[in-house]
Parts: sequence; structure tokens; C-alpha cells
Amino acid sequence: MTRLAQTAGLNDIQREILSTVRDFVDKEIIPVATQLEHRDEYPTEIVEGLKELGLFGLMIPEEYGGLGESLLTYALCVEEIARGWMSVSGIINTHFIVAYMLKQHGTQEQKDTFLPRMALGEVRGAFSMSEPALGSDVSAITSKGVRDGEEYVLNGQKMWLTNGGTSNLVAVLCRSDEGHPEGTAPHKSMTTFLIEKEPGFGEVRPGLTIPGKIDKMGYKGVDTTELIMDDLRIPANRVLGGTTGRGFYQMMDGVEVGRVNVAARGCGVAQRAFELGVSYAQQRHTFGKPIAQHQAIQFKLAEMATKVEAAHAMMVNAARKKDSGERNDLEAGMAKYLASEYCKEVVEDAFRIHGGYGFSKEYEIERLYREAPMLLIGEGTAEIQKMIIGRRLLEEYRFQG
Ligand SMILES: Cc1cc2nc3c(=O)[nH]c(=O)nc-3n(C[C@H](O)[C@H](O)[C@H](O)COP(=O)(O)OP(=O)(O)OC[C@H]3O[C@@H](n4cnc5c(N)ncnc54)[C@H](O)[C@@H]3O)c2cc1C
Repeated sequence: MTRLAQTAGLNDIQREILSTVRDFVDKEIIPVATQLEHRDEYPTEIVEGLKELGLFGLMIPEEYGGLGESLLTYALCVEEIARGWMSVSGIINTHFIVAYMLKQHGTQEQKDTFLPRMALGEVRGAFSMSEPALGSDVSAITSKGVRDGEEYVLNGQKMWLTNGGTSNLVAVLCRSDEGHPEGTAPHKSMTTFLIEKEPGFGEVRPGLTIPGKIDKMGYKGVDTTELIMDDLRIPANRVLGGTTGRGFYQMMDGVEVGRVNVAARGCGVAQRAFELGVSYAQQRHTFGKPIAQHQAIQFKLAEMATKVEAAHAMMVNAARKKDSGERNDLEAGMAKYLASEYCKEVVEDAFRIHGGYGFSKEYEIERLYREAPMLLIGEGTAEIQKMIIGRRLLEEYRFQG
């Protein structure tokens, strides 16, 4: 089962981490994932296991108690975890984005306060840009932070917070016009606020309510919520990086690594779908032979495996580009776009291979079929990826005539 999606050039530590994670996925996630998912149950034991493996601190620098690993190592771990159950990778992802934003943009005090506890999984992160009226068009946000002495007063409603209930640290993007005269471009008057809160639902801190879990078609187990700020008071030292007006860039930086992560999830889910399809195709007989012996099914398997390979290669390329310190928005956009589209197609083919049984909740492919569409939307839809890719291509290939 390991012939596909190999990664050349990994060092011993990376190989060891990946083999430990794969083992954990095979033993602790795959056997229970579908049952937990059907009950929409939070995978508490799995999360404790991830903490023990150090996965919450995988990319946090060693000086803050993390493993100081690269984006590539992180993405390959996410691929393995999503192969087991995509929701589990969702639990780590927003945490990872917030830790990354703190590492890149936080003040020294913010790093010292949060990163060591984030590495242990004691502080768990969520990030929040989307609002009920917008997701793609981030520049249109209306949530607002207004300075009042040594505090900011936050008001507004946020939507679609992955880990909104279980997290205790949320990076929230708000408009903050202070110091930015009227007419300033919208993306230059946004600020990321670091909001500490109790995990749970209801009023989790004065002025801050997490109403409850949104009921979703897939991506279950992990909680997705709204967040309501009603005169929420935040100390001024909880502005990410200490300076207002930088929130849009900080969030976009976070989302860029998040896109590699979503690509990695697409790779993991597609791999699992291929494994299920190729296994079922050799067991199910029609017209006197295993369906894998019908050319139409073999062609499907060939297409599925080719897509798994291509998506993996693009995801690895995007991660390596970021690790080398180069700008990777083009590669991350392409990887996210391709991996999520291919994932949906590979899952659909595996579903078709299962015939009627694919429609039964007894078969794992039914779960994957409901999970794959989320990847088409999260961290920017396909249309948004194509806008990013298109703009970058025009920068790179500027007409010189
Ligand atoms: C399960 C789940 C978890 C999520 N978790 C988080 C989270 O943790 N934090 C967070 O901030 N957000 C989160 N989101 C929100 C997610 O990022 C948005 O749903 C996504 O960005 C799309 O925004 P939208 O839903 O408002 O769609 P819209 O922006 O309203 O788009 C609707 C459609 O129009 C298309 N479209 C929009 N603009 C253009 C354009 N200019 N040109 C062409 N087509 C366009 C889109 O591609 C889409 O097909 C989550 C969403 C889901 C479903």
C-alpha cells in the first residue's frame, strides 16, 4: 500500500516521524474513525495521542519546546493523518496556523506566553476571518476593534471557526481604523487580535459567545462554530505583533501555509480512497471475474493512482518552496487547487467501484464521499485559487513587447 506518494530526499528524523505517525493512524485512527464520525463525536483519545507524539508542536521552534520541524514534515504528517480521518487533521490545522502566525509575526512577549503551551497542546488555536456575509472577500469584513485606553473593544460576528469550541486561543481578524485615515485601503486597516477564552459553548468570557456546533454534512467530530463579540474587551498587548493595520497580511501568510496543509489533506483522503477502491475491486466479482479484471475498472484505478501521485508531488513541491524561504503562493495555490479537485475525483471513482455498497454507511468510502467537498472550499475556493494563480502568472510572464 505504500508504493504511491513516496517522497525522495527525506532525512532520518523525517522518516522516523512519518513512520510513527503512520503507525498511529493505522492502529489508533482508522479502526475508530467511521464510528466516531457517524456519532459526530470529538476524538478525545486520538487528540491525547497526538499530544504525546508532539504533533501540536511539530513546527514550533525547539527554543519554545516544539520539534522545530519544516513545513514539509508537517504536511507529510497531515497527509498521513487525513488518510486516517480528515477531521483529525482539522483539529491540528488551525492550531498550526495560529502557532505559525505567532512565530512569524508575534511580539517576543506573545511568543513566550503562548508558544511553549501550544507546543504541549495545552493552548489550542483557532483562527477566524470569515463572517456570515463573507468568506472569499476578506477585505469586506465588518467586525471592528476600537481602542479604549489600554484596551480594545471588539464587536461583530464571525462564522465557520474550525475548533471554535475546543480552542482556548483564537486569532480574530477585525477592522481597526485607528491610525489609518479614512480612505486607507481596506486591507491596510485590519488587525489580528489574540483572544484567550475558556473552551466550550455559550458565554465563554464576558462579551464573547460561542453559540454551538454547526451541523455539517461531513468533517464531523471536529467542532465548527460561530463567534459573537459584544463589547469584548481585549488588552492592547494582544494585538498580534503589537501594531495595528497588519492583520490582513498576517492572516494571508497563515492561509498560505494552510493551503499546503489542505493540499496535504486532499492527498491523504485520495490515498485512502484509492486503497479502498483497489482492495474492493479485487474482492467483488461480476461476470465471472473480479471487477479489477474488467478494463474499465483497471482504467479507473490507473487514473486514481496517477492523480494521487501528481497531487502528492505538487504538495511536496509547494512545501519545499516555502521551507527554502522563497515565496510559494503560486505553488501553494496550484497544489491546493489540484489536490482538492483530484481528491474529489478519486473519492468519486472509489465510490463508483463500490457499486451500491458505497452508499451504505457500513463502508468507509461513504464517509470520504461526504468529507472530500470541504477541501474544495476551505482555505479559499477553487475559484479563489485560480484568481491567485492567474495573477501570479501574469506577474511572472509579463508581456515584454
Ligand atoms: C467546514 C468549514 C470550516 C471552515 N473553517 C474556517 C475557519 O477555521 N476560519 C475561517 O475564517 N473560515 C473558515 N471557513 C470558511 C471558508 O474559508 C469559507 O467558506 C470560504 O472561504 C468560502 O467563503 P464563502 O463560504 O463565504 O463563499 P463565498 O465567498 O460567498 O463564495 C460563494 C461562491 O462564489 C465564488 N466566488 C466568490 N468570489 C468570486 C470571484 N471573485 N470570482 C469568481 N468566483 C467567486 C466562490 O468560489 C464560491 O463558489 C470554513 C468553512 C467550512 C465549510
